Amino acid sequence: MEKELVFGHQNPDTDAIGTAIAFSYLQNKLGYNTEAVALGNPNDETAYALKTFGFEAPRVIKTAANEVNSVMLVDHNEPQQSVSDIEDVDVSNVVDHHRIMNFNTSKPLYYRAEPVGCTSTIVWKMFNENEVEIPKNLAGLMLSAIISDTLLLKSPTTTADDKEAVDALAKIADVDYEEYGLRMLKAGANIADKSEEELIDLDAKSFELNGNNVRVAQINVVDLPEAMARKEAFLKTMENSSKENGYDMFMLLITNILDSDSEALVVGSDDNKATFEKAFGKKLEDSEVKLPGVVSRKKQVVPPLTDAFEG
Ligand code: MN
Ligand code: MN
Repeated sequence: MEKELVFGHQNPDTDAIGTAIAFSYLQNKLGYNTEAVALGNPNDETAYALKTFGFEAPRVIKTAANEVNSVMLVDHNEPQQSVSDIEDVDVSNVVDHHRIMNFNTSKPLYYRAEPVGCTSTIVWKMFNENEVEIPKNLAGLMLSAIISDTLLLKSPTTTADDKEAVDALAKIADVDYEEYGLRMLKAGANIADKSEEELIDLDAKSFELNGNNVRVAQINVVDLPEAMARKEAFLKTMENSSKENGYDMFMLLITNILDSDSEALVVGSDDNKATFEKAFGKKLEDSEVKLPGVVSRKKQVVPPLTDAFEG
């Protein structure tokens, strides 16, 4: 069997890395020859989950076509979020829980998309469907991915399937998921020792919205005032990054994981800021706006932005 690489999106999160490891394990059990890799190093939260359950960080790749002909994608499909040479390889499988955008293949493929809170929830179902046993440490890693994506089942992206998966995986992993989950989220919410440059790139994705290159970054914190004290430095760094990378708008969502509220910082042209205000029905004050209850980029940020840019 020809080797294939399995990976999640750039600027990987716990779902991108944890689910790549889980899906690769399942595929290998089913007779395929795969290796889980990553498009970046694990963040603090993911590193905590990997260490807790005894995994090494996956090897980081920059390109895929130099080593394989075919790849499997988890937790993304949009080409600008994937490996840089995605156009030069076949995609044999996708398992994802995001919108499908600009995704084309030349060959037929397995494509599994479900609007659930985490890719690991889908992969958990696939283990069950294929009657493959989930090892204890892998269950812990998949559990970590679901806790991360759903902010401990509190995000509006959370479904009954995610809850069921969390219960089942916590049982296999033999952990108290609420106690472990809070420890894991807090491990990823320490911003004090990171520069603004690092923070705006930790969990950032680019979206093409009606011809505009829109960057949406998110950071999790447990102390919003501590983060907002660095506002001017964040704005300056976002402006520099926009110039360097050609972003038409840059939005930073700073989310308090303890009470599920966010503040947003936005840089861009006056036109694009007006589009942002239309999207959320709120005025930016000095490039800043409170977004109470907003925690999900996928469900609460990208859809209104898409509508506003296209409207
Ligand atoms: Mn992700
Ligand atoms: Mn995800």
